[in-house]
Amino acid sequence: MASTLAGFDGPHPDLPADRAETKFDDGKPRYSRAQAMAEAARCLYCYDAPCIEACPTSINIPEFIRKIATDNVKGSARTIFDSNILGMSCARVCPVEVLCVGQCVYNHEDIPPVQIGRLQRYSTDTAYDKGWSLYEPGPDSGKTVALVGAGPASLACAHELRKEGHKTVLLEKRSLPGGLNTTGVAPYKMIADASLAEVAWIVDSMGVEVQTGVEVGKDVSWEKLLADHDAVFVGVGLGPDSSLGVPGEDLGGVFGGVEIIERWKNGGDPATSGVTHAAVVGGGNTALDVVRELLVLGIPCVTMIYRRNEASMTGYEHEWDYAKKGGAGASWHSQPVAYVGEGGKVTGVECHAMEIDPDDPKGRKLRRKGDHSFVVPAELVVVAAGQGKLSGLLEGMPGVDLDWGRIVVDDDGRTSNPKIFAGGDVANGGKEVVNAAAEGKRAAQAIHAALSQ
Ligand SMILES: Cc1cc2nc3c(=O)[nH]c(=O)nc-3n(C[C@H](O)[C@H](O)[C@H](O)COP(=O)(O)OP(=O)(O)OC[C@H]3O[C@@H](n4cnc5c(N)ncnc54)[C@H](O)[C@@H]3O)c2cc1C
Ligand code: SF4
Repeated sequence: MASTLAGFDGPHPDLPADRAETKFDDGKPRYSRAQAMAEAARCLYCYDAPCIEACPTSINIPEFIRKIATDNVKGSARTIFDSNILGMSCARVCPVEVLCVGQCVYNHEDIPPVQIGRLQRYSTDTAYDKGWSLYEPGPDSGKTVALVGAGPASLACAHELRKEGHKTVLLEKRSLPGGLNTTGVAPYKMIADASLAEVAWIVDSMGVEVQTGVEVGKDVSWEKLLADHDAVFVGVGLGPDSSLGVPGEDLGGVFGGVEIIERWKNGGDPATSGVTHAAVVGGGNTALDVVRELLVLGIPCVTMIYRRNEASMTGYEHEWDYAKKGGAGASWHSQPVAYVGEGGKVTGVECHAMEIDPDDPKGRKLRRKGDHSFVVPAELVVVAAGQGKLSGLLEGMPGVDLDWGRIVVDDDGRTSNPKIFAGGDVANGGKEVVNAAAEGKRAAQAIHAALSQ
């Protein structure tokens, strides 16, 4: 694996320079020193700060902001990374509107909240730019831990384990590490180069071994990992896109949400050439990301198809507001029943009109509205109906309890097998990068405690 990077935020040698994600503008560019100091000066350094409570990694937000205000940027970065070693990517990708920024006390006064994410980005980007080396591995403990998957959960776990001197080996099935930070998050938040810079920053400074192109369950068995290591951490995330199981799925131009975003982020035909109408099926955050991304990629007409109404969407409201401002349309109360096409290529999505079943006491159940059906025209259809689980892989783990394809863990990532720990999407069912970082770190502390007995 190429773990060194040709400059932070510069082009990574393993990524095609002309891939689709390079066409996106940075949504929240880095503050200048003057902007950062001015924004930092607005913080009230609240006692019992609600912004800290809202952060899954409990970063001491007023403390890092105070350090920016006094121009102690290195100290500020250290405060952030002490709580969350993925502080650089989290500064870019965290849904701060519903986490720290959403809880800032200014919201109650009708005053714009402190831009915590952008301040965090200022400090952490500066640390990367300056090449500050803030941590070093602990003395060799003689113990070794295998970490399956090289996404945020495993990276956070590996970093913490190296601080305690345990040998760590990350096994990643893809050719590039970083998990969904590299393959999935919206390019206007972070491009893959920055994710790979983060991986390099963590693994190079701490001596974490990374093996890419190694699929656990296929290239190496769980039994071998358990025999060769003192503990195993599982951070494999979720599975591929779920499909709707309706006719026409094999038509050209029908993609899964995570599948097409990975093309845009890491290379390959973006599948958007000549497309004038695109439809996105789903109402969650991946659907919203795809809608916004298609608009930036120049598709004139992008329609979201959702079986419920606008108020029931599971995606963040602020993301839908952005999508609407970008020109997105929506077909509400629409249930896709088939993809229609000509000559092997999709031309539209046939939908049934739906309505709330008046007999359902909870007012949630949908029923078909008469016989009405219609076709939403689309030469590109993206189905963002959630990710499946990696049940086949996980069922192969000896002695580990599962709950509908999710690994059952306690608060510190312990599974029912005392040698196996887990965190991130595979255990929480799919949350955010910051949750994966928090869970990976907590699991490392539990692993360290187990290895120290
Ligand atoms: C499209 C999309 C956009 C998102 N946008 C955001 C966002 O803006 N902000 C945010 O905070 N969160 C976002 N998320 C959620 C976030 O990306 C995840 O919560 C987070 O990446 C979970 O980290 P993880 O380490 O648990 O798993 P992942 O990031 O999924 O990493 C798991 C890794 O394990 C590898 N792997 C899987 N199976 C094997 C195997 N058998 N052997 C070896 N390796 C294996 C995978 O290839 C992958 O690299 C988004 C998710 C999606 C799908
Ligand atoms: S809630 Fe807002 S003002 Fe208070 S410490 Fe946090 S960022 Fe500063």
